Amino acid sequence: MFTRRQFGFTGVGAAFAGLLTGSARAAKFEIEKTDAEWRSQLSPEQFNVLRKHATERPRSSPLDKTYDPGTYQCAGCDLQLFASETKFDSGTGWPSFYQPVDDAVATTTDYHLVLPRTEVHCRRCGGHLGHVFEDGPKPTGLRYCINGVSLKFVPKAH
Ligand code: FE
Repeated sequence: MFTRRQFGFTGVGAAFAGLLTGSARAAKFEIEKTDAEWRSQLSPEQFNVLRKHATERPRSSPLDKTYDPGTYQCAGCDLQLFASETKFDSGTGWPSFYQPVDDAVATTTDYHLVLPRTEVHCRRCGGHLGHVFEDGPKPTGLRYCINGVSLKFVPKAH
């Protein structure tokens, strides 16, 4: 009797959890992969930043001081995210841009630190890129502070 009731409850719980997972997944990103799939295509550093919201050490990315003409793509799905024309030296040790490419990134509020910050991610694969702050240069006044490891730089063809 007890076993039967318990079983019934578990069944309903599992069905409800499945429903939640299913609807959340359908609404989220154009490109979705399991952790195992992401691990197989990304380096451990890329996986930790893009998929687990880690932050690379400042000044660790060669892209921090790169100002060559070209495009910065998502290291997870190759979507074009930033153009070299919008890159500037913020002095923070992370690649910084005042504006993303149209329809390339989306934001959420993150509460990982005490004060809320605006997290920036790739709109296509959901990969975590960095944060955006309101102390950037003209014309936008925004500073997209991006982990270099989440980007792939593609130099402009001559
Ligand atoms: Fe992406």
